[in-house]
Amino acid sequence: MKNNSISKIHTDYELCPNCTKRLISKNIYKNKSIKKCFICKNIFDNLNSHLENIFEKILNYDFKTFQIGVTLQPSYLDRDDFIKSKFKIQGVENIKFAVLTELAKKISKTTSTVRKMNQADLIIEIVFKDESCTIRTKPLFIYGRYKKTKRNLRQRQDLCKKCNGIGCHNCEFKGVLNEISVESKISNFFKSKFQCSTVKINWIGGEEQFSLVLGNGRPFFAKLNNPKKRNRILRNYSDHNGISLSELRKLKSQPKGSVPFKSEISATIVSQSLISSSQLKNLKKLERNELQFFSKGKLISKKIYKINYKKTAKNKFNLNLFLDGGIPIKSLIEMQEITPNVSNLLGSPCRCEKFDFKRIEI
Ligand SMILES: [Zn+2]
Ligand SMILES: [Zn+2]
Repeated sequence: MKNNSISKIHTDYELCPNCTKRLISKNIYKNKSIKKCFICKNIFDNLNSHLENIFEKILNYDFKTFQIGVTLQPSYLDRDDFIKSKFKIQGVENIKFAVLTELAKKISKTTSTVRKMNQADLIIEIVFKDESCTIRTKPLFIYGRYKKTKRNLRQRQDLCKKCNGIGCHNCEFKGVLNEISVESKISNFFKSKFQCSTVKINWIGGEEQFSLVLGNGRPFFAKLNNPKKRNRILRNYSDHNGISLSELRKLKSQPKGSVPFKSEISATIVSQSLISSSQLKNLKKLERNELQFFSKGKLISKKIYKINYKKTAKNKFNLNLFLDGGIPIKSLIEMQEITPNVSNLLGSPCRCEKFDFKRIEI
């Protein structure tokens, strides 16, 4: 019965050697020249032009593994299924699978890389209908710290006010304004090093435009999308303009959720009225007291572990704090929204002139 079906394939349909071999697992093809394979329309003869296109596109990419996907017109699979059901052929790979295997074999051989089903460095997508080929890559995750030794540089890039980050003509479809920030400097560093399209930074805490970040710097996690280069070595970096990067290293993945941290900060505070040393002693109450405040509608509880102060003028003092990350420093000093707070404890409204980060621990 089965032999009967197989022998009839070639009398009824014209099939190429690839399709014959695939369907009946042996090549009974008798060297007759075929005009056009009923199933694949001689797709296997045209793979080289696709391969040339792929090789040209991936020339500048670093990769050890690749994933490949193809989109064939449904009619190919329909004809393949039709023949299989007509001749009761079961358990053989379909035409799409066969095309993929053939392409992957050649890519693997030419580039000395390995095909992987997921999590590959490089992702190749081919659409046969319009002969297009798209290349994407697996993101790179990087951990590092930045130091900021010059004031007046905002940490984050501002979203474009016209489109709110979506991308428009105003922002050249970047979604952000072209202002210089810590974020733009770090992004540009990674973009030029790894030739990635975009960089998304997950900050461990934040600072104001006029704050410095000293010590060994503020930690951050960066996700680099579509990097062309992934083998580059990471070294410490300084832009000689107040920003330097250290501890840079590649990670397998990014941490999920928020990372708890503690910071040591130094603030310069001006009080509206004169302050005495005994008033300042009251600030010790901040130490080991739970601080409570609302953030985004949620009641948050944080701690201050260590507090030191030094009077520098009749109404001015320096305050050093070692505290949980995520406490809004200016609010802690100036506002009523956090209890207890510096202004309340001193019985005089205070203003935070500046505050710097001396150390951040994770
Ligand atoms: Zn064929
Ligand atoms: Zn815009």
